[in-house]
Order: sequence, then C-alpha cells, then structure tokens
Amino acid sequence: MQCQTVLPGTECTFWGKQGCIFSEGSCQTIVEDCEGCDRIVDSTIGRVCSAYPAPMKKWSSGICNFATHVKVEIKTEELKINPLKASKKAAGKK
Ligand code: SF4
Repeated sequence: MQCQTVLPGTECTFWGKQGCIFSEGSCQTIVEDCEGCDRIVDSTIGRVCSAYPAPMKKWSSGICNFATHVKVEIKTEELKINPLKASKKAAGKK
C-alpha cells in the first residue's frame, strides 16, 4: 500500500490498513554514515532512506549492504600455483 505519512504516495510494504507497521510506526531519518548515498530521499520528517526504514540498524553491524557510496573491498590474493605441479596434477587426472 502507499505510505501516507513520511513518503506520501510511495508504495511501501510496511504500510497497512492500520498505518505504518514498522517499529515505532515510522521510517527513521538517515545517519551520518549514509551521507553521499543515492538512496537518500527527502520526506516529511527530513531525509530518509528509500531502501530501508531504519538506516541506523543498517550500519549497526558494519557497512550498509544497500549503500551506493561505499564499496566493500574484497582482497583476493593471487593464487600461487607452481606450473610444473599443476601440469603433473592435470596429467594425473587422465
Ligand atoms: S541504503 Fe544504506 S547507506 Fe544508503 S541511505 Fe539507506 S541506509 Fe543509508
């Protein structure tokens, strides 16, 4: 159903016949870590997240997985393969 308070007219899964069913009955405003994210939108209560109603919770256990301004760097070490051993191993599988 469509939100009628924070983002009037926006489809929201938390809006029901009795109003907003999210905890505390409303979205919460963004937190400092959200600054720069493309998902920030203006609402009747200030700037909120268009992807998740409680930005603080998204950042409570690390980087927000919906964030567009922060990239998680996954370092992959180059595999050190001995070409001779790899060749022998491949030959042995025949
Ligand atoms: S997607 Fe994450 S970082 Fe971006 S505004 Fe929402 S909670 Fe904040």
